[in-house]
Order: sequence, then structure tokens, then C-alpha cells
Amino acid sequence: MSRFAYVSGRYLRQAAATVPIEDRGYQFGDGVYEVIAVHGGRLVDRDLHLQRLERSLREARIAKPVSDIVLTMILDRVRALNRIDSGIVYLQITRGVAPRDHTFPGRVDPQLVVTARRAKPVDPALLEHGAAVITIPDERWARCDIKSISLLANVLGKQRAREAGALEAWQIDREGLVTEGTTSNAWIVTGAGEIVTRPAGHAILNGVTRLVVLQIARESGLDFVERAFSPDEAMSAREAFLTSTTSLVVPVTKLDGVSIGDGRPGPVTRELRSRLLQHLDRLS
Ligand code: PMP
Repeated sequence: MSRFAYVSGRYLRQAAATVPIEDRGYQFGDGVYEVIAVHGGRLVDRDLHLQRLERSLREARIAKPVSDIVLTMILDRVRALNRIDSGIVYLQITRGVAPRDHTFPGRVDPQLVVTARRAKPVDPALLEHGAAVITIPDERWARCDIKSISLLANVLGKQRAREAGALEAWQIDREGLVTEGTTSNAWIVTGAGEIVTRPAGHAILNGVTRLVVLQIARESGLDFVERAFSPDEAMSAREAFLTSTTSLVVPVTKLDGVSIGDGRPGPVTRELRSRLLQHLDRLS
């Protein structure tokens, strides 16, 4: 089946969809993006994604090309054209097309591209055994809260994880504390049973899944705190896990080769994953 994309005003077969070479996204990585999960044919937590998009655009000083109502229609149309029941919708907005010059062009229309694809289901063995994660220095810029399409450091980090036989790399800041993964947020559960994740700030992307999991923890009366933790603390934690739109909650059972807890996915991680799945079912 052909895939379809939306490219600045037109719905096209993806194989035929192109953008101009002077799109500033292509030349400077001058743009922002969102990845929204589709479950039961519905966009999951759409409003939280649109709020984050609005914030990224504001911080990047890129104009919003369409209203939220129109954007929602486009996202849903691309989802439907690709017959996605369970998967993701990807959107990116770049500053626009203009002769290459670092300063903002005088008059330029931001460019919107939307694609969609079916989800690869999370490998059941991963949920059964948990993931291995490595640590790497956080070599990204100082505004990781902006969901920028400039992802070179994340790409290099994820590839290092892959080559080390790990699923993810947790990035370590200059103070020796974990910021987040290259495509996910990082969490531990302490010996006292407290759920810990780094507070939102410039050092991390405030994951939509992170926000929803914190809300679930709050509603379930689970102990949690937003503070930074070190790799050493993670290695001696009872449980660890990561969160993202595409993987939801995935247990982490090894950090730099050291087993976490008893080396198996723990009960808090399982509980949060199953409550998050219930949250998705309620939406659809
Ligand atoms: N941090 C980074 C660096 C990411 O790329 C992602 C996934 N886009 C996340 C965290 C998780 O965010 P979300 O839960 O919104 O997918």
C-alpha cells in the first residue's frame, strides 16, 4: 500500500513527496517536530503534544503555519490516508525556504510536513527481560527542552548504544547526573520504593509520556519525586525504566553491564506500563 504525506498544503504519495533543498530544516536543522502515538485510530494525548509544539515554536521563534484545529485535521487525514490504527504520526515545522543565510529571512512561510506509519510492536522479550542501557556524556546543546529537529548528538548516541548491544544511551551531564536517553526519558525506583525522574528544565525534553506517567503515579498514590539521579544511584536502584511515545514504559535491567535490582523488570515498572495501556484504551 502506498504511503501518503502532507507537504505544505498538499497530500502526496510519500515516494513522490519532496522539499526544496533550501528548506532551512535541511540546511540548518532549523525546525521543530512532534511524534504522536495513534491507538485505536485516535491521536493519543494530542493536546499535550500540541501544547509542547506551541512552546517549541515560540522558543525557536518560528511562526505557526496553521491553527490547532487545522493541524488536527491534517494529522487525522494523514493518519486515515495511511490507514493507521496503531502507530505514529510525525510532524515537523521548519522556518521555511530561503537563500542560505543564518539570520532569519525577511519574509518566509514556515513549512509543515506530516507523515504516518504503523507501529512496530515492542518486542515482548524486551518487556520480559528488560533493556540494556549504556551511559555516554551529554554532548547536546543547552536547550534540550525544545523539540528541535537538530538531532546529531542524539543520532550519534543512539548508534553508540546500538553498537554496544544496548537499546538506549543515558546521557550524563557535567555534574555526573543522568539527563535523559537519546529518544526517551530516564527513571529509577529507589530501594524505598520512590519513583525518581529528572525535573523538566532546559536539560531534558519534557516527554508527554513522562507527564502522563507522573499523572498516573499521582492518581495511583505512588511515591514519586522529580530530581536528578546519578548512574551509581541507578545501578543500586530497585528498578529502572524509560518512557517515550513509541515505547511507552520499557524496563531497564542493565546499566553499563551492571544488573539493576534483581536483574528483572520490577513491579512498579509493570504497574506503570499496564496503567499507561489502560490510559490509551480509555482514549480510544
Ligand atoms: N527525550 C528525548 C530526547 C526524546 O527524543 C523523546 C522522544 N521524542 C523523549 C524524551 C520522550 O518524549 P515523549 O514521551 O513525548 O515521546
